[in-house]
Amino acid sequence: MLASPLDILALAAHRDDVEQTCGGTLLKMAQRGHRTGILDLTQGEMGTRGSAEDRAREAAEAAKILCTSWRQALDIPDGRVENTWENRLKVVRVLREQRPRVVILPYWKGRHPDHYTASVLGYEACFLAGLGKLDVDVALPVAAGDSPATLASLRAGRPQDVGPTDLLPYRPFKIIYATLYYDVRPTFVVDITEQFESRLEALMAYRTQFSDQEAGKGIFPARDEIRSRIESMARFYGTLGGVTYAEPFIQKEVGLVDDLTLIPVKSI
Ligand SMILES: [Zn+2]
Repeated sequence: MLASPLDILALAAHRDDVEQTCGGTLLKMAQRGHRTGILDLTQGEMGTRGSAEDRAREAAEAAKILCTSWRQALDIPDGRVENTWENRLKVVRVLREQRPRVVILPYWKGRHPDHYTASVLGYEACFLAGLGKLDVDVALPVAAGDSPATLASLRAGRPQDVGPTDLLPYRPFKIIYATLYYDVRPTFVVDITEQFESRLEALMAYRTQFSDQEAGKGIFPARDEIRSRIESMARFYGTLGGVTYAEPFIQKEVGLVDDLTLIPVKSI
């Protein structure tokens, strides 16, 4: 039997990307009773500070603070997220297992190649996951020319009770893009005023990255600096939505309105 589907799955290149870009939104959705999940494409082995194991522990702690029901990291190399057939299939497998109604992807432009590549990779995986004739168990070894060891690693981490035949085609209903890393006007923001402190706490769970310490001091700002930077971003997007703190998103589709008197955000 499959676990219950996720309502919302946030996908990102690196552990802590979700915490930084849409952690408040995920927590808010969980508080409303939705099942939320996080898929990190990489395990953070290229980070200046801390090992992949440290980051796994920190990611689990952050997930707990955000009340997520599910979190997993794939084995795509950190710093080398590529939109390959093999990587798309790894994401397809997760989508078919977790069956999220909404998928949050990173915005498709950015400074870090892993971020924008994760966006396109995630979108294409959402499309592929719905193809009736795509069998990931067949497609993986044949199409990617994988060794049995690679295939075994792809299958590792799957829920024990999920057999290959259970992975039926599935396509998410909605895809939205978390835009916080990029200077672009969002199409909507989510009010995270009540979730702001917990979201900051989730980010600070990555102690190897964010605590005040000697290693990498030049690249990593101190905790107070991080707090004020995160707060000013959240305030900026909050102002756009007429609330205190918010997180920005883009949807490619138009907004659908039923009742003009209920459209939020004041005009003048
Ligand atoms: Zn990142």
